[in-house]
Amino acid sequence: MSKPINHDKHKGARSEFVAVAWLLSLGYEVFKNVSFHGDVDIIAWKDGTFEYFDIKTINNTTVRYSLLPSQLNRNVKVLGVNLVDNSCRIIEPSLKFMETVCIECKQSFKGRTFKHKYCGPKCVNIVNNRKIKIKQLQVMGNA
Ligand SMILES: [Zn+2]
Repeated sequence: MSKPINHDKHKGARSEFVAVAWLLSLGYEVFKNVSFHGDVDIIAWKDGTFEYFDIKTINNTTVRYSLLPSQLNRNVKVLGVNLVDNSCRIIEPSLKFMETVCIECKQSFKGRTFKHKYCGPKCVNIVNNRKIKIKQLQVMGNA
C-alpha cells in the first residue's frame, strides 16, 4: 500500500496563490513578498491605494487572528484563505490594540492591551541582554 502524499507542506504557498487570484479577481494589482520573512505577504494596489496583507490558512472554525504590533503599525490586514473551498476573507485582528509607550525607548506604538511593554524585538533584546549581564555579574560576585 502506498503512503498518502502529504500536501500539507505546500499549504502556505497554496494559500498565498489562492489569495493572489482572489485579489486579482477583485481588480487589484498584486505584489508578492519573495522572502518568507517580513510583516507583509502580499501588497495589493487599487484606485491609488495600497493594501497590505498577512496571508493565513484558515478553516471553518477559525474566526480570529492577531497581528504583531509592527504589522498593525503598517496597517497590515489578515487575509484568511480556506483551502477546502478556496474562499478568502479579510479577518479583523482578534486582540484589542492600543497606543502604548515603550518602557525601554519611550516611543509610542500600537501594543496589545496589558501585554506589550516594548515596541518590538529590538527593545525586548536590549532588556533581555541587560538581565543576562546582571545575572552574570551576580554569578561573578558570588564566585
Ligand atoms: Zn522600544
